[in-house]
Amino acid sequence: MSEIPAYERDPLLRRLETEVVSVGDELGRPFVVLADTIFYPEGGGQPADCGTVGGTAVLDARKVGGDIRHFLAGPAPSGRVTASLDWARRFDHMQQHTGQHLLTAVAEQRFGWCTTAFHLGERLSDIELDAPSIRPEDLTELEETVAAEIRAARPVTSRRVSQEEYARLAVRTRGLPEGHSGSVRLVEIEGIDLNTCGGTHLRSTAEIEALKLIGTEPMRGGTRLFYAAGTRLRRLHGAHQERNAQLRQLLCTSDDELVAGLGAKLEQLKDAQRAVRDLEEELATASAHALAAGHGRVLAAHWPRRDLPFLQRVAREIGLLAPDRVVLLTAGEGEQGAFLLGAGERTAIDVSAAGRRVAEVLGGRGGSSGRIFQGKATLLSRREEAVKLLEGCP
Ligand SMILES: [Zn+2]
Repeated sequence: MSEIPAYERDPLLRRLETEVVSVGDELGRPFVVLADTIFYPEGGGQPADCGTVGGTAVLDARKVGGDIRHFLAGPAPSGRVTASLDWARRFDHMQQHTGQHLLTAVAEQRFGWCTTAFHLGERLSDIELDAPSIRPEDLTELEETVAAEIRAARPVTSRRVSQEEYARLAVRTRGLPEGHSGSVRLVEIEGIDLNTCGGTHLRSTAEIEALKLIGTEPMRGGTRLFYAAGTRLRRLHGAHQERNAQLRQLLCTSDDELVAGLGAKLEQLKDAQRAVRDLEEELATASAHALAAGHGRVLAAHWPRRDLPFLQRVAREIGLLAPDRVVLLTAGEGEQGAFLLGAGERTAIDVSAAGRRVAEVLGGRGGSSGRIFQGKATLLSRREEAVKLLEGCP
């Protein structure tokens, strides 16, 4: 392996002819080690690159000891191979990551907030700042200052220096990792920041395109600050616009009225739900009276669009109105639904035993509590048969 890998020598390199040095398998995942590589291995908050090696997909790349393992979707190739990057993914990472350098530098210089961690997320990225809270006007100023530095198109360069030179330079850093030996890689945003970093970066702050702060949340005495940059920011904005257009159409209103419009609709929905509950109560009472006025020992009724709680309401009312009757109530469209067997206090029927037999006829199951047996049914078309069975019960 070259001492300095290709991704560090030239972060714009998308393809590389190289040699497979060794192949292996880690917990069932095949990997190759290459003589040189354009694949950045996960580290420093920047995810690993993806792409192909010899036509096989690279799913992950990690530094293990002195090697970079390229984990593959299929069997490892051998000999001379072409490595090819998923460039859209890498460029996105370079935009979020270089954006983070700039954001961190401005946050520290202008506000004295130090960055304690960085995450490059699937949707948003974030930095953790050692500020317990951040005022909205400070966030605005931070974003505006970052935007001005993007417009200034400041060159971003990297170089390796000796540890002696590193010690002499004014480098913003949390210190080298334990046991670090050899040269130190520095990344500089001209006139703004000098920092240690092993990641891949853009050539100029202008390539960040734009950086938007998206929100904060408190964490462990500090503040997590979310942001998105570059192409990803345009994609997010595009998706947002698309969603807004759909919402505008659904609610027949303008962008400015969307929140108020949706709030009004939710209020209407609450009112409608209250009205439905009231009507269900009335329907249950009326149904119970109509049923109780009927003839025969077993009273039966079915409602395609009601549910078990409705059946329970009807059964309660009938229990009061006609304590000498047995009721079989069912609800549901098609064969699936709920059933309830209720026996008035002045009946002698064994509710539990009769309920089990009804459940069997209706292809369902359930349980009893007091004078009621209720459950789910899968053969509601056999209601008549269940009624006949109950009429025959002692
Ligand atoms: Zn970096």
